[in-house]
Amino acid sequence: MSISFDLNASGKNTGYLVVGDSTNNSGWATHRVPIISFKNGEGPTVLLVGGTHGDEYEGQIAAASLSRSLDINDVTGRIIIIPCISMEAARNGNRLWNDGANFNRVFPGNENGGIHGKLAHFLSSELFPQCDGVVDMHSGGRSMYFIPSSNMTWVKDKNQRAKLIKNMVAWNTEVHMIGGEQPNTDPYSLLNRNAEAQGKSVSTGEFGGIGTTTPQSMRIIKEGLANFLRAFGVLKGAVKTRDEMGRGPVSIIDFRDGNKFINAPRAGIYENLVALGAEVKKGDIVGQIHDVDHPDVPPVQVRTATDGVVGVIRGFPPVVTGDCVCVVGKKWDSLDAIENEETRA
Ligand SMILES: [Zn+2]
Repeated sequence: MSISFDLNASGKNTGYLVVGDSTNNSGWATHRVPIISFKNGEGPTVLLVGGTHGDEYEGQIAAASLSRSLDINDVTGRIIIIPCISMEAARNGNRLWNDGANFNRVFPGNENGGIHGKLAHFLSSELFPQCDGVVDMHSGGRSMYFIPSSNMTWVKDKNQRAKLIKNMVAWNTEVHMIGGEQPNTDPYSLLNRNAEAQGKSVSTGEFGGIGTTTPQSMRIIKEGLANFLRAFGVLKGAVKTRDEMGRGPVSIIDFRDGNKFINAPRAGIYENLVALGAEVKKGDIVGQIHDVDHPDVPPVQVRTATDGVVGVIRGFPPVVTGDCVCVVGKKWDSLDAIENEETRA
């Protein structure tokens, strides 16, 4: 694997991550992933990655838009942009690669594996070590819709957590989401956690979903990304306040408790009965599942097992048993309140 230009060269450079490939239509192919580098003067290096999941287009468009609009004279340090790392999945409108690989579960990659394994290995062993910051932009993809928000994993290490909080807040989204680790999953197989394990300052977000973009979601991600880059010290200009960005009061939705994920109790067509941002109480109905083969059978009601705010709703109605249909998180008015509870616990 290689890059088609010198990543240390000054100015704006555009080229490809080049991976040896061999397809049915081209035995000696190269798989090419666009990469753009802006290097100017002194400052940190930040890597921006879109399209970790193929059907999450907000980050891909925000990254590509930035790479076209960025003036090299506004950069102080180096910004490396990969607008879409999982190109095959993005072209197909899928979260996953054709062989079922989830690019956010293949780290640290495999130098001799499939294309995704080679890309993950290159990011992990060649790109991350050169970076101070790594930004991984997500959304709900085709299956879910998130309140557009910057987010973080609430890690135990306080120094690392402080960095993650600082990065999350810099996006000035009206909502921030705090996640826990997915049960039964190696956390370091995720892109962001692999970078974190290398001591990198990481930032992530879930900026909408349902496989589409809206003017609202794109405004939130584009303005937030620019503010993050200013706060990180790699883009010149004053960091904007929430007021200057026209943002209202912040709320934090906390998904750390595993009860907050609501899964379909049976297969069918899922109907959302609550809106994003709605407050619900334990036992409230959040949706119902219709049996399309038997329209005279009453739908099965789906309830929340916990009080909280609806942060994620279903975006793709067909469900099988066990699919996630809604996520309800505990609402906090400030990050300090969470830290204080942590101290008491
Ligand atoms: Zn994602």
